[in-house]
Formats: sequence, C-alpha cells, structure tokens
Amino acid sequence: MEVAFLNLKKAYAELKNDLDCLWQDLHNDGSYILGSRLETFEKEFAEYLGVKHVIGVANGLDALTLSLNALGIGAGDEVIVPAHTFIASWLAISESGAIPVPVEVNMKDYLLDTSKIEAAITPRTRAIMPVHLYGRVCDMSKITALAQRYHLKVIEDAAQAHGAFESVSGKKAGTFGDVACFSFYPGKNLGCFGDGGCITTNDDETAEKIRLLRNYGSKVRYEHEIKGKNSRLDDLQAGVLSIKLKHLETWNARRQKIAKIYLKELQGVGDLVLPEDEPGHVWHIFSVLTPQREKLRAFLTAAGVGVIIHYPKPIYRQLAYQNTPSAEIGFQNTDKISSEILSLPMGPHLEVEEALFCVQTIKTFFK
Ligand SMILES: *Cc1c(COP(=O)(O)O)cnc(C)c1O
Repeated sequence: MEVAFLNLKKAYAELKNDLDCLWQDLHNDGSYILGSRLETFEKEFAEYLGVKHVIGVANGLDALTLSLNALGIGAGDEVIVPAHTFIASWLAISESGAIPVPVEVNMKDYLLDTSKIEAAITPRTRAIMPVHLYGRVCDMSKITALAQRYHLKVIEDAAQAHGAFESVSGKKAGTFGDVACFSFYPGKNLGCFGDGGCITTNDDETAEKIRLLRNYGSKVRYEHEIKGKNSRLDDLQAGVLSIKLKHLETWNARRQKIAKIYLKELQGVGDLVLPEDEPGHVWHIFSVLTPQREKLRAFLTAAGVGVIIHYPKPIYRQLAYQNTPSAEIGFQNTDKISSEILSLPMGPHLEVEEALFCVQTIKTFFK
C-alpha cells in the first residue's frame, strides 16, 4: 500500500463541480485581480473567524512582512519569535528590517514557552509573534497579558491554524493579535491552487494601511499615497478559497478523526512520544518524537508511507541566521525536536485504512 503524506488530488476531486464552474465563470467575467471574488472571500473569512477585516495578500510570508510594515516595526526594533517554527516567521521580521529574537519552545506542545518571553524583552522589543504551529493555538492569554504589560504588538502567525481555536475560550486563531497572518499555500488546512495569504485585524487604520501596502500604495488608480508593493490575492485563488472555506470545518474534523486513531493506536508503541490531544487542535501536522527518527523515517519510506520532517534544522543553526542573538546559549528543546520529530501522513482525504497501515508499519518497526 502506498500512503501519500498529503493527497491534494482527492481534494480537487471532491470539489470538482464547483471548481470547474469557477474556472468558467472567471473567464466569462474576466475579473482576475482585486475583483468581486476577492472581496467576497475576505468578507466570508472575516465572518467565519469573527474579525472585522480580512485583507488578501500574495502569500503567508508577505502577510507577516506587511503586518510588521503596517505596524511601523522595522530597523532597530526587535520582535520575539519562537526558536522552533517555519523559517518564514523569522524571514518576515528580517525583511521588515527588525531583528528576530528567538525564545525557546516547550516540550508539551512545541509552542512558544511563555515563561521565557519576559527574559527576552529589551527596550527595543516592539512585538511578539506567536506561531500556532502544527494547528494548535499558543497560550494566548499569557502572551496578550505580557504584550499589554510591556506595550508590545502581537502578530499571530496562524499559517498552520485555519479554524483552530483556544479550548478554554473557543476563540479562533487569527483573532487574538493586533494582526494575524494566514497562508493559503496548497498544503495548508485552507489552501488555494498556488500561493496566497491574508491578514486579519479589528483595527480600521491598520487594515487601510495594509490595503494600500498590498497594492502599490494606491487606493485610487495612479494615486500613490505611500510606497507599497504588489502583493495581492488573485481572484482565482479567492474563488477557490470561498469554495473550500465551506468545507473547512468538515475537513478539520476529518483530520481530528485521523489524529484520534493515531493517538489511540500508537499509545505505548516503542519509544514514541505522541502529541497532546486538545479540542481546537486542527492537526495541520501530526508529529511523533523518537530518538530513532532517521531509522523510522527510512523504514516508513521503504514501506510506501509518506513522511516529512517539520523541521529538520533549527533556524538559528541555518547559515542565513548564523548571527542570531543568544545562539551561543543554544535552544535545547528546539534542537531535540528538530532531531527527533517526524510528521505522519495527515489530511482530510487520508483514509482510515491508510492511517492504520501507517500505524501497523510503525508497530512492525518497533517490534
Ligand atoms: C506556510 C507558513 C508560512 C508562510 O506561508 P507562505 O504562504 O508559504 O509564504 C509562515 N509561517 C508558517 C508557520 C507556515 O507554516
């Protein structure tokens, strides 16, 4: 049996009728950029999340960078970011001219260790960027309390957390920060057919600024109030996202069902450390930890089970970030996660039999 890490073909097949209609309609009205489909999707996603504004942009990295730009964060500023995340979180801070200041993650959920944030705050700190990695929401009550105490902005990186919510409050990822950023990269829980992203905010002024920034600094054609860039979400992608948004809850529920199977079946198998279950976790990634990661990975790959490592090399150990502040102290949890983590097949179209085949293969490995 071949088990794909993620099967996007089945996602298309499930929605084929709607998607094919969209393609036809798009060419009939010829509205490709900043058209009504973008406006509609922005409204729908804002309503779904419970925020005032959604602004579609070209990708998740731009969403983060434009957010920092709009909040006036740049050269000379510091932004607190988890040591363990996808590199885009750090790159956006660097691109804005500010300095990413990594803070260690905890071993409970691999998210920002809120007890270590305060020690990283300096007079130059302007913002905290919590990342809801793997589909689980960070401890936002602690983070927003700290941000208030130190007058810092909060920029959520919600690129892996469409529909995720905090289990206590029920509040969704993307509604806590001054701004929040999503990616619609095809493999995300809500993904389009290319690159895409968006920013959410409840602040009218910030929203207005981002709308200018994404479109050459222009509201009225050929009038440029500020120096912006070209970072728009295409109408085709917006149309795809409107269709897929209707299925987000169902598709996340299917991910949760697969996660429950993994959690039940892999309990106590070998030396595996399993992720914690929590209501509101949308399982963008289902990962296990084992010191035998490399061997297990080779074994699963040979058996036809698609596995990926998120992420194999800590950012502070990358050449691009060789001058990271506090790198000399190191980040033990980040190092451990990077060397032991393995992501199992996961997605709304993964069959139960496929998940069970993956489980069986893992059990064989540890026997
Ligand atoms: C995917 C991702 C991004 C970047 O999104 P792109 O659309 O690929 O630019 C940012 N942060 C995290 C945590 C991501 O997973």
